[in-house]
Amino acid sequence: MNHNITDFDHSDDSKLEGLRMTRQRREVYDVLMSLRDHPTASEVYERAKANMPGISLATVYNCLEALVDHGAVRQVHFERESSRYCPNLTAHGHFQDEQSGTVIDVPLKKGASLGDFLDLPAGVQVNNIEINLTGKISN
Ligand SMILES: [Zn+2]
Repeated sequence: MNHNITDFDHSDDSKLEGLRMTRQRREVYDVLMSLRDHPTASEVYERAKANMPGISLATVYNCLEALVDHGAVRQVHFERESSRYCPNLTAHGHFQDEQSGTVIDVPLKKGASLGDFLDLPAGVQVNNIEINLTGKISN
């Protein structure tokens, strides 16, 4: 995969506003934006090292945490797996192929809202919904 740094789409960088972007945070964020395959922290570390050989795994974890805390990146959890990271902030679920472990984004149907699926008790305010599906991709 080509990691050419010049052709990233930074048009939605507004989600980074207010977050102090150190060089390391920028590198970690660019890794997530360049190949949106929901990498784990170790995978992000391996990729970041290519551009920034001095970066440590601990730094990558710290950067990911800062980006997640800021709401610029989502953390994705599948059972018995390390957390994965997703820079897509639109409402979507994740599908994991059980055989390959590949994780893909599953967008909502047009006009649908996640709340439509749930009969929420009165007074409940949902701040976070995570939809994780596992199965087989046949093609
Ligand atoms: Zn995603």
